[in-house]
Amino acid sequence: MRTADIRSRFLDFFAARGHHVVPSAPLPTPDPTLLFVNAGMVPFKPYLTGEAPAPWPRATSVQKCVRTLDIEEVGRTTRHGSFFQMNGNFSFGDYFKEEAVAFAWELSTAPQADGGYGLDPGRIWVTVHHSDDEAAAIWRRVAGLPAERIVRRGDEDNFWSMGVPGPCGPCSELYYDRGPAYGREGGPAVDEDRYMEFWNLVFMQYERGEGAGKTGYPLLGELPRRNIDTGMGLERMATLLQGVDNLYEIDETRPVLDRAAELTGTRYGADHRSDVRLRVVADHVRTALMLLADGTAPGNEGRGYVLRRILRRAVRSVRLLGYEDPALRELLPAARDCMAHSYPEVAEDFDRISQQAYAEEDAFRSTLRQGTTVLDTAVAEVKADGGRLLPGAKAFLLHDTYGFPIDLTLEMAEEQGVEVDRDGFAALMAEQRERARADARARKSAGALDTSLLRPVLDAHGPTDWRAYDTLLTES
Ligand code: ATP
Ligand code: MG
Ligand code: MG
Ligand code: MG
Repeated sequence: MRTADIRSRFLDFFAARGHHVVPSAPLPTPDPTLLFVNAGMVPFKPYLTGEAPAPWPRATSVQKCVRTLDIEEVGRTTRHGSFFQMNGNFSFGDYFKEEAVAFAWELSTAPQADGGYGLDPGRIWVTVHHSDDEAAAIWRRVAGLPAERIVRRGDEDNFWSMGVPGPCGPCSELYYDRGPAYGREGGPAVDEDRYMEFWNLVFMQYERGEGAGKTGYPLLGELPRRNIDTGMGLERMATLLQGVDNLYEIDETRPVLDRAAELTGTRYGADHRSDVRLRVVADHVRTALMLLADGTAPGNEGRGYVLRRILRRAVRSVRLLGYEDPALRELLPAARDCMAHSYPEVAEDFDRISQQAYAEEDAFRSTLRQGTTVLDTAVAEVKADGGRLLPGAKAFLLHDTYGFPIDLTLEMAEEQGVEVDRDGFAALMAEQRERARADARARKSAGALDTSLLRPVLDAHGPTDWRAYDTLLTES
């Protein structure tokens, strides 16, 4: 089943059950705690906290997400994309646990001919919070799951909160057993590659108070209106339904991977290290496309810096695979062709998107060449002195003058068996930020009106007799 089909089945299923279909919000979010939307619930936060009344009791969406925390995982695990799409169904004070479980079970296991995903019910495992007897009972009753496949886990895995005082509650995750070829037996607590998490159901049932720890306590009690927030990974469902090994091999990314393999003359599946690099390329090129489409431009700070890192990592991975020419001109159109069906804007706006991407690649290629020489020399010096630590000042120079993201320096140093003084680097970065702030303050005060210029006027003519209000009042 194609990814686009999985997405539309999801929306159709929930629309038929009274959910309002809400389009994805753009990736850059006004939410002050985030750079990019990283879960389907983010655009609905005000309705979940009760800050604003929900316009509908039930909603469903396919939300574009970028999780910066997962960037390092890309290509190494089978299941983490830096960009991914989260399909969700939401209840704002409407239905609760029992219906949420029943919906997820029905859509996951109903035969494909009947609009479902047709997963084998005998391979699905679920987790519940250790305190949530209610959810465990519902899974037994509604899905007929045997007790052995209902795993109880603690706060770390199965308790959700917004990270601030507000709603929180236990969650329940669905996992699919991909079989012994993917790892060890024993359920999701043993092996999360073999047992792939594909759906998370959050039961927002309690309220946390001020001073609560990460896991959501102390609780103030039950919420007056209980909510449901679920997230099904679209790419993970596609991985399962397309019978591929990992997320980077599904129909929306595989053509980019294949193009990268062709360009670099690499045979995918022959060597683990090269495979990881090809997956990174496929993932990152798509993420860059989606970020550029949503208006993020490469830059040195915040969102722009995340995009810059992603683009540069993609370009460098291609180079490490042996291709020295500009690569994005070959790869970005492949990503566009994969995504335009669901996101027509990536095709409509491709001239702008591609120009920004190619300009970034060109700039990086020229600094990469110079920076690599600087790095190699520095590493040689460290080694000649019998050391193993690259000074923070070198990493800073590479960052500041040659545009090397720190993770690039770390990676390149590590390849040569040298570590980087990260603390020294961080201290120099902090100093630079402070200098920039001081400069900005100085510029600001220079731009303000210099009142000393008014002194001669005051001296010559005396203070202004300000009568406008009186005059206007008497005249009207
Ligand atoms: P994992 O434990 O595998 O890292 P998670 O528990 O962090 O996943 P959730 O926050 O529960 O993920 O997000 C809901 C769903 O979104 C997950 O069940 C999964 O299907 C999907 N998902 C989460 N992170 C990613 C990612 N980086 N790439 C693709 N899909 C993801
Ligand atoms: Mg995760
Ligand atoms: Mg998880
Ligand atoms: Mg989860």
